[in-house]
Amino acid sequence: MEIKREMMVKQIADPSTLWDLIVVGGGATGLGVAVDAASRGFKTLLLEQSDFAKGTSSRSTKLVHGGVRYLAQGNIGLVIEALRERGILLHNAPHLVRNENFIIPNYSWWSSIFYSVGLSIYDLLAGGRSFGRSRLISKAELIRRIPNIRQEGLKSGVLYHDGQFDDARLAVSLALTAIEKGATLINYFRVTGLTKHLDQVNGVRVTDIETGLHYTCRAKSVINATGVFVDELLGMDAPESRPLVQPSQGIHLVFDQSFLGPHDALMIPKTKDGRVLFAIPWHDRMLVGTTDTPLDAHQLEPRALEEEIRFVLEGAAGYLTRIPTRKDVLSVFAGLRPLAAPQNEKEKTKEISRSHKLMASGSGLITITGGKWTTYRQMAEETVDLAIRTAGLPRRLCQTKTLSLHGYKNAVEWTDPFFVYGSDAAAVKNLSKENPVWKELLNPKLPYIGAEVIWAVRFEMARTVEDTLARRTRALFLDARAAIEMAPAVARLMAGELGKDADWEKEQLVSFGKVAKNYLVDR
Ligand SMILES: Cc1cc2nc3c(=O)[nH]c(=O)nc-3n(C[C@H](O)[C@H](O)[C@H](O)COP(=O)(O)OP(=O)(O)OC[C@H]3O[C@@H](n4cnc5c(N)ncnc54)[C@H](O)[C@@H]3O)c2cc1C
Repeated sequence: MEIKREMMVKQIADPSTLWDLIVVGGGATGLGVAVDAASRGFKTLLLEQSDFAKGTSSRSTKLVHGGVRYLAQGNIGLVIEALRERGILLHNAPHLVRNENFIIPNYSWWSSIFYSVGLSIYDLLAGGRSFGRSRLISKAELIRRIPNIRQEGLKSGVLYHDGQFDDARLAVSLALTAIEKGATLINYFRVTGLTKHLDQVNGVRVTDIETGLHYTCRAKSVINATGVFVDELLGMDAPESRPLVQPSQGIHLVFDQSFLGPHDALMIPKTKDGRVLFAIPWHDRMLVGTTDTPLDAHQLEPRALEEEIRFVLEGAAGYLTRIPTRKDVLSVFAGLRPLAAPQNEKEKTKEISRSHKLMASGSGLITITGGKWTTYRQMAEETVDLAIRTAGLPRRLCQTKTLSLHGYKNAVEWTDPFFVYGSDAAAVKNLSKENPVWKELLNPKLPYIGAEVIWAVRFEMARTVEDTLARRTRALFLDARAAIEMAPAVARLMAGELGKDADWEKEQLVSFGKVAKNYLVDR
């Protein structure tokens, strides 16, 4: 279905419209809420100030997981919930979630026993939604699977299963699912204020970032799903409110896949300073991360710190024979976890909670933050349930446990670069019949073709060169230099589709260039 922005704007601009729910924020959380609400038949509007998944939701480690680390911390409830959601997501979006082998290398006999037992418990907690049993593997098998593993002192490995996905592509799939269920979703629309009647929030003030026009939209319930930005909306409601969120930055480095191989991921449960490090095969590359750096401020385009880059490089160097260096980094990206801020001095010294926080303010504003990509559906279900109670909406049951997401397709051919489109793949390829030039690769280092740019504009609401290169395709995350090289061709194709002129192309290249610089280690 071709999506016309003008139609979306028309609906938003109509002052007679009363929405059941307005969701602010188009990351995993907000998109999940929009899918849930629309599939229950509620009249739903989602507003995103930038692009869908521009925030944290395109910058994750790309795991659909129960969290082996939370198990080690004894946080069983969180693990059970996430393992259940992992299974549901695999069932509802098999074209985007892959059952991946993860290997923990053991350099002591003690860790062989410890992780074998721990991962057997992990398997048990997954119950009927298991991705496969974990098992102890020999040193020889580990070396066969990951030839580049550091062999000195290696005793054995533990192989377990977890999910692996493409976060920004899942966000697109959720956005399209919500639209198919009747929701209105728009990117580049910023909420700048809340409207109230008798102290109760009854709508939002918004600005169309593309035109600068302002609108007011009315709703029975407003949901604040703005990730690390939640305090700004809470401040619009009650200026004196305490901060709910403390950002913590995590970065990833992307390398050529030859450092790892295409089949198995590496999980380092405890680096020298006690953190977890993953090396994961992702779109023919190796993704390594992450860090956990508390920050005082947040921004939409966070930048990796030099010490974080060093930490990840040193971490990888400790476990690989051919060591990836700075020169090998194809892309670096940073994301911000919306962790719950400590509410008192004592809490500052404890690990800050990773589970989600959901609350209704006295004004009726509902705020949902924290959690994980893996648990977005459960978070959405709880949020819409709370909106029903708070705004007195009709009680309708959640539909998402068995709701297939847009692009649903079984028997996925993971080696086909078009797999991320699921059931749309053939249509994307067919677009080149309109213009054979669209069949050509945009850059020899990446698998993307012109037809995908056209598809992104017509069917996936891409509005800028960055939307196409960072989140509809993942070029910027996979190879920042190649993405910069591709940008002029992408700008030209998009301008043709959007009816824009040469000045627009130039502006796009300048703004994309500024963002893309952040993805190079030597800027
Ligand atoms: C380094 C890192 C690794 C992670 N790895 C994993 C993983 O492997 N697996 C997993 O399950 N989870 C992972 N997570 C967690 C997961 O990515 C997050 O929990 C999730 O993406 C948060 O989504 P969100 O929608 O709450 O926030 P966001 O994605 O940040 O979305 C919030 C959106 O709100 C918009 N917004 C803000 N203010 C306004 C406004 N005024 N008007 C309109 N829109 C507004 C923003 O532009 C943004 O797009 C990871 C997180 C990090 C940081």
